Amino acid sequence: MSRSPAPLKRYAEKRNFDSTPEPSGRHVSRGRDTALSFVIQKHWASRLHYDFRLELDGVLMSWAVPKGPSFDPKDKRMAIHVEDHPIEYGAFEGEIPAKQYGAGTVIVWDRGTWEPIGDPGAGLSAGKLAFKLNGEKLVGLWELVRISKPADKRDAWIFFKKRDA
Ligand code: MN
Repeated sequence: MSRSPAPLKRYAEKRNFDSTPEPSGRHVSRGRDTALSFVIQKHWASRLHYDFRLELDGVLMSWAVPKGPSFDPKDKRMAIHVEDHPIEYGAFEGEIPAKQYGAGTVIVWDRGTWEPIGDPGAGLSAGKLAFKLNGEKLVGLWELVRISKPADKRDAWIFFKKRDA
């Protein structure tokens, strides 16, 4: 079911687990009846950003959102798709030491469950993923839409609130 033959390889390659308190993590398959989790971490790295993570296929798919989410549907927020993180990263808060990847403070800013609208694998491939969030701060319908072209270096998306019915 995983989208990658080596889930979390990029995650592990970027980090030295002797130096960072972040979880080394592993691919975890949870029962199909388990609600999918999401988390947003506020991360004071070299630049402040928010990491938006959606559980799918045993990992947390992740986007770095420089300005964080906006509740105004007209306000589209840049979201750079980054490496998958382990599920247990969703509970991580702490200090990534200087000189380590992403050095700085991380807190959990929001957490909850999410429900894809339609097939999430197809949505990801098509670059249009709509979903419902049941968080403490973020609720209702939201959408991620890919705006980058295949040749682009960064996998850029926009993240925004959709109007609820
Ligand atoms: Mn980050």
